[in-house]
This record gives sequence, C-alpha cells and structure tokens, in this order.
Amino acid sequence: MATNEDEINELERLMRWGEVNGVEGLRILDRRDIKRMEPNVEAERDIYSPSTGIVDPDELMNLFHAKATRNGAVLVTKTEVTNIRKMDDGYEVSGVSLGEKFTIKADTIINCAGLNADKIAGMVGLDVEKLGYRIHYCKGDYFRLLGKPPIKMLVYPAPEKLGLGIHLTPDLSGTVRLGPNAYYVDSISYEVTSGEHEFRENVRKFLPCIDEYELTPDFAGVRPKLQGPGEGFKDFIIKHEADRGLFGFINLIGIESPGLTAAPAIGEFVSEIYESEIKK
Ligand SMILES: Cc1cc2nc3c(=O)[nH]c(=O)nc-3n(C[C@H](O)[C@H](O)[C@H](O)COP(=O)(O)OP(=O)(O)OC[C@H]3O[C@@H](n4cnc5c(N)ncnc54)[C@H](O)[C@@H]3O)c2cc1C
Repeated sequence: MATNEDEINELERLMRWGEVNGVEGLRILDRRDIKRMEPNVEAERDIYSPSTGIVDPDELMNLFHAKATRNGAVLVTKTEVTNIRKMDDGYEVSGVSLGEKFTIKADTIINCAGLNADKIAGMVGLDVEKLGYRIHYCKGDYFRLLGKPPIKMLVYPAPEKLGLGIHLTPDLSGTVRLGPNAYYVDSISYEVTSGEHEFRENVRKFLPCIDEYELTPDFAGVRPKLQGPGEGFKDFIIKHEADRGLFGFINLIGIESPGLTAAPAIGEFVSEIYESEIKK
C-alpha cells in the first residue's frame, strides 16, 4: 500500500519484482478500488495479490515433521550441539541431550540453527566475522487488536529498511494482529517490550479507525539478521563449505522472513546441493 509519491514508486518496483518472480494475478488498485475492497483503509495505491494467504505455523511444522518421519528422519528435541570437530572422514558432533552428554559421528551437517547458526559455523573453524556470517538479533513485537476486525485482507504498508513494516494480519483465530516492528537487541527475549503508541502511530496513516480499537501485547520474535545496525541489506546465505575444506558441511545463515514461506523451496535447494555435491 502506498500513501505518498515515494511509496507509489516503491510499489511499482515491487510490482515489477513480483511479476519477474512469477507471482500470478498482481494488480495495481487505485483509491476507489481500495475503498470498495477495504472501506477502512486510506491509501493512494495498492498492489492487490489474490494468491496471498496465511497458514497456521504449528500445523505446518506438524506436517513437515510427519513427512520427514515418513521419509526416515528422526527428530531429536531438547538437545544442544555444543561442539563440532572436523575429522578426516566427516564430523564429530557433541553436545547435551536431556541433561546427558553425547557424541555422534556425521558425514553431513546442515547448519540451520536459526539464531545460533553463526555459533555452529564458528564451531568448525569458520571465521564468522571475516565471512560476514555474524548474526545480529533484530526483535519484532506484535499487538493484537481487540474487537471486530476493521479489515478482511492482509494489509501491508510499503516496506521499511529493517522489515516489512508494521502490517495487519487477520489470522486463523478471526482477530487481527499488528506487527512486527523491528529493533536490534543484544540478547534473546520473547517478551513484548514496545509500547502500543508506536504501533498506533504507524498504522493510523493508513487505518485511521485504529484509535477506536483497544490493543493488547501479543507475542515477539527475533530475526537472525546478517546486517547489523546502520548497515545496508545483506541477504541470507546457503552454502556448501567444501571450498573452505569442509566437505559435507552446508550453512544456512540469516534465514529470516520469509523463511517459513520459503521453507519447502529452501529444503529442495539444500537437497539438490546434497544430491549433486555430497551424496556418494
Ligand atoms: C517477528 C518475526 C516474524 C516473521 N514473520 C514471518 C512471516 O510472516 N512469514 C515467513 O515466511 N517467515 C516469517 N518469519 C521468519 C521465519 O520465522 C524464519 O525465517 C524461520 O523460522 C527460520 O527457520 P529456521 O529453521 O531457519 O530457523 P529456526 O526456526 O530459528 O530454527 C532453528 C532451530 O535450531 C535449533 N538450534 C539452535 N541452536 C542449536 C544448537 N546449538 N543445538 C541444537 N539445536 C539448535 C533451535 O532450537 C531451533 O529449533 C518471521 C520471523 C520473525 C522473528
């Protein structure tokens, strides 16, 4: 959604980008179309994306888990990897599982440890700073809007530097979430610490009726960003580190939004790397 000339330019850029990426049915809407579809929204222009949808992340994880198990995978929870040693023929992985120390041997390691992916990469001797693998924690808080939803669709402002901008998501509970905002933190905490004022300020310019609604803190998440405060955009990394002497070690670092949406595609991509470069 665009509320001024700069944002309209940004919208046109996003529209071209979406088309290049093969997103179907994208359409630019003007003020009249927007009012017809979402009477409470104030915007000059909008990209309408009829193929956009929402999922229940827990259910999606259950599905991935069931499929992986059917394909022979074993998921081990409550287990922390604390060290990895490169051997002549693979890796020795050690850690703590349910309070007990363990060591296993692995031919292949796929490092997809989210907020700890840089630490895991460091365990095999990769110079995390030099390679630009250092992860910076960037938190995002959400609020929930109480009462009858003022919108029917997902409503996104033009994106900001650090994230998508505080957007409105009607979720499967039938209510609307606002968020996330984006701010760097030194440590991981999932407590909502932002005040609702910031959320109202941001949303008011495209949803003036926000002030008729009560907001309540909902939940928070932490993004594993590769760019630190004040730095330009850095994209995620998916790399088999064979050229650094680490055959069979694949790094996935800085997998932030839309990492959930992209998870099946990322999985296929990593599987292709495994099949073509590692599998004997
Ligand atoms: C506020 C917020 C909003 C988001 N919104 C969206 C969205 O709308 N759409 C979307 O597609 N994506 C969204 N994302 C991004 C999405 O959540 C992530 O991209 C995705 O979860 C990354 O998945 P992952 O498996 O790489 O990492 P994670 O989900 O972080 O999983 C990493 C796993 O590794 C484990 N681990 C870490 N260290 C160790 C260790 N030492 N030993 C053993 N295990 C370890 C962790 O316990 C965890 O289970 C959002 C993220 C945030 C923070």
